[in-house]
Amino acid sequence: MEPHALILHRRTSSPYDPLRCLWGCDVGGDSEMAVVLAVAAGVIGLAVGSFLNVVAHRVPLGLSLSHPPSRCPGCEQAIRPRDNIPVLSWLLLRGRCRACGIPIPVKYPFVELANAGLWVGLALVLGPTWVLPSYLWFASVGLVLIVTDLEHHRLPNRIVLHGTWVGALLLALGGVLDGAEVVRFLRATAGGGAWFLLMLVIALAARGGFGFGDVKAAVLLGLFVAYQPLLAEPAWFDVLGSVAVAVFLSFFIGGGVAIGLMLLRRADRKREIAFGPAMVVASLAAAVWGDQLLSAWLG
Ligand SMILES: [Zn+2]
Repeated sequence: MEPHALILHRRTSSPYDPLRCLWGCDVGGDSEMAVVLAVAAGVIGLAVGSFLNVVAHRVPLGLSLSHPPSRCPGCEQAIRPRDNIPVLSWLLLRGRCRACGIPIPVKYPFVELANAGLWVGLALVLGPTWVLPSYLWFASVGLVLIVTDLEHHRLPNRIVLHGTWVGALLLALGGVLDGAEVVRFLRATAGGGAWFLLMLVIALAARGGFGFGDVKAAVLLGLFVAYQPLLAEPAWFDVLGSVAVAVFLSFFIGGGVAIGLMLLRRADRKREIAFGPAMVVASLAAAVWGDQLLSAWLG
């Protein structure tokens, strides 16, 4: 079979089949299950998104995640439970603290909505599989890294390291319970290793511009990208295709944003442009639409 044919003949019966059943294909009795799963993912995703805001705010500052309870940065008033409902409280308070009226940045409800959106999307794409929790973890860790990279220009070790080992453990457990082929675990490991080595070489060669946070985060991202097969029969060499799609896309997005910012004179070549967000977005897209992206790329 020609390579193109191989890519396009991905197993249609796979429970992991990305987005194939979202539009138009008959899911029969599973559609109720899909709706329940999506709604649950949305509600829990909002609550988790609220916690991600705490993580993204406190970890880069070296603060504890549990103490003290959330306070208004303006008046130091503890935030009441009814003012702490994701998105809704922000809307009801019109984006201001109830006590002192200082504006609450729009990034808070945005992160909550983004996390809920990612969770609903992944729940619909992956369905009720055992690897679903690991992909939700991957997406949420990725979202926190996007926020810290944009705000602080770094991917904190504490988030990258814990995000990686917990993610790897959840993926391995989920894969075993799903009865996944051994080759998938080998691919995931090779994918994490390959992207890590590539970023290490790039970071050393570029001497600045790429932080070592980007290098370390590549392990987590590569694991989750490469676990998803591109070919009909998952093979070890297919890992190169998965990671190549993610890497190409990350440079495409990162480069596009960098050029856009330079044109708008919002950044110059000397100032470091956050590359982490481009890597996270590219890896999520490659994990979900890897085969479609590769087909489109190869024409
Ligand atoms: Zn206040």
